[in-house]
Amino acid sequence: MNLRFYPYTINLKDEFSISVGSRTTTPAVMVEIDQDGITGYGEASLPPYLKEDQESISNFLKKLNISKFKFTVELDSILDSVDNLSADDNAAKAAVDIALHDLVGKIKNVPLYHYLNISKSENVFTSYTIGISDEKSLKKKIALASNYKFLKIKLGTENDKKNIEQINSITDQKLFVDVNQGWNDEHFALDMIYWLAEKKVVLVEQPLPKAKRKEAEWLNNKSPLPLIADEAVQTLNDIELIKNAYSGINIKLMKCGGIRQAYRMILKLRELNLKIMIGCMTETSCAITAASHLASLADWVDLDGAELIYNDIFTGCKIENGKLIIPESAGIGVEKIAN
Ligand code: MG
Repeated sequence: MNLRFYPYTINLKDEFSISVGSRTTTPAVMVEIDQDGITGYGEASLPPYLKEDQESISNFLKKLNISKFKFTVELDSILDSVDNLSADDNAAKAAVDIALHDLVGKIKNVPLYHYLNISKSENVFTSYTIGISDEKSLKKKIALASNYKFLKIKLGTENDKKNIEQINSITDQKLFVDVNQGWNDEHFALDMIYWLAEKKVVLVEQPLPKAKRKEAEWLNNKSPLPLIADEAVQTLNDIELIKNAYSGINIKLMKCGGIRQAYRMILKLRELNLKIMIGCMTETSCAITAASHLASLADWVDLDGAELIYNDIFTGCKIENGKLIIPESAGIGVEKIAN
């Protein structure tokens, strides 16, 4: 096998920037692994809180001696050696994991969900992120997103109630709320969640700072809505620690190290009777499509990442009337459309 990689900058559509001054680009590294003329595609996308950057990814990939492997060995043993290269570097590992899953699906000529023995659901609805802005552009954005069953709204500012009331006045769509650790006090958070429960909100993601685990347990015991951990959980090993503090976890390939680890997290969450959300960073259709193959196993899905960017270099999973259309072609099912 051969591995190539190149840096890429993902550009977020301006209208989806969450607030004035927020970042509109996300660095990424794209990975390609070949064997016998077949190419598997992978991606590492790097939001600032992951602590990885294009240089650390490049260093990790240079350390990885993939040419010693051939797909005559099990995928698992290759991924074990990728995992054992370092303690962290989860986005770098995710890029390799996605490319290898794409490659193995193509070699075996089956779509990834089939390779993973997942029965595909035709009813996987993704949420769609709406950036808060002035009323006129908010109305326009919501009109464009009218086919989605769920809208995702970022909260955590002093305008939270006003923003939600404004959205409720425009649409009856159900809402996922992501606080991004923005409420500091658990009593304030509980009052807000009771209020949100009357405002078409389905779930609340990461209401408190991730370090406030005891406070999150208190909140989780009293909350009328499911609370979903995002920043508080990166990998499989974190799940035990937070199992009483949240109703479920937002699993993202870039946080956990890829498809194999995400699947392990799903199994662990089921065992603990916790809810499963499959989410994403700002990503191209490469990583989004890879994650879509796990989406049939989730309670909630937030895979709108590729819809929010304007320089996607892949086609793959599509969204029609708010439903994910998971590709049937071999591997993850993406096609590279630009360099
Ligand atoms: Mg989040």
